[in-house]
Amino acid sequence: MMRSAVLQSGVQAVMRLVYPPHCLTCNAIVGTDHGLCPDCWSRTPFLAGLRCDLCGAPLLGDDPTEIVHCDDCRVSARLWTRGRAVLAYRDNARTLVLALKHGDRTDLAEPAGRWMARVAQDIRLPGQIVAPAPLHWRRLFRRRYNQAGLLGSVVARELGLEHCPDLLVRHRFTGTQEGKGVDARFANVAGAIRVPPRHHARIADRPVLLVDDVLTSGATLAACAEACYSAGAGDVRVLALARVVKDR
Ligand SMILES: [Zn+2]
Ligand SMILES: [Zn+2]
Repeated sequence: MMRSAVLQSGVQAVMRLVYPPHCLTCNAIVGTDHGLCPDCWSRTPFLAGLRCDLCGAPLLGDDPTEIVHCDDCRVSARLWTRGRAVLAYRDNARTLVLALKHGDRTDLAEPAGRWMARVAQDIRLPGQIVAPAPLHWRRLFRRRYNQAGLLGSVVARELGLEHCPDLLVRHRFTGTQEGKGVDARFANVAGAIRVPPRHHARIADRPVLLVDDVLTSGATLAACAEACYSAGAGDVRVLALARVVKDR
């Protein structure tokens, strides 16, 4: 056992010499796997300090434990009870999200999912089911993977929770949300997502943690939350890799 562990670390050391770890978003060599070089790190806006308890948007204030809500979450009634996000969607965070979503960089799900699990520690609930925001099958066919599902799988593993990648299905093709205003985004996805009847018994009265890559208006996650509650779920919470925040 000991010997194989020593052998294993020896193999890893040799591999590191041949294939040193590279920065997640540029080609610079970094010290650890899944790391960012100092330059990319400084351009990656990790959210810290006081944040909205429903969406993770950064807010002004001194006490990060205070429960507060941002203007967006006060205006659009949120169907979920708490929410977290890791990054502000701009600069290198945008590069990361787009590479994961459209650039076949599925390897980014591992570090990103770990960051997400870390910020979700205080909204984790016993028995919670992790479920990704679904893609319509036409989009899934083109992209070959659901980036939210990849993130959900890492989040569930890190938090020790059950992952149900097909808990939600998008049964109506809704096209892109990009370029639409808030009301149009909500109208576009309303009723487009549901929990298939075969999962109703599984989620009855159980808390759900919804996972998505980007939280913009919250319309998609609202449609997901509504579908969960209609199928009998208990408390629904949300977790996004990045939150679109207005420039201040
Ligand atoms: Zn870099
Ligand atoms: Zn908010």
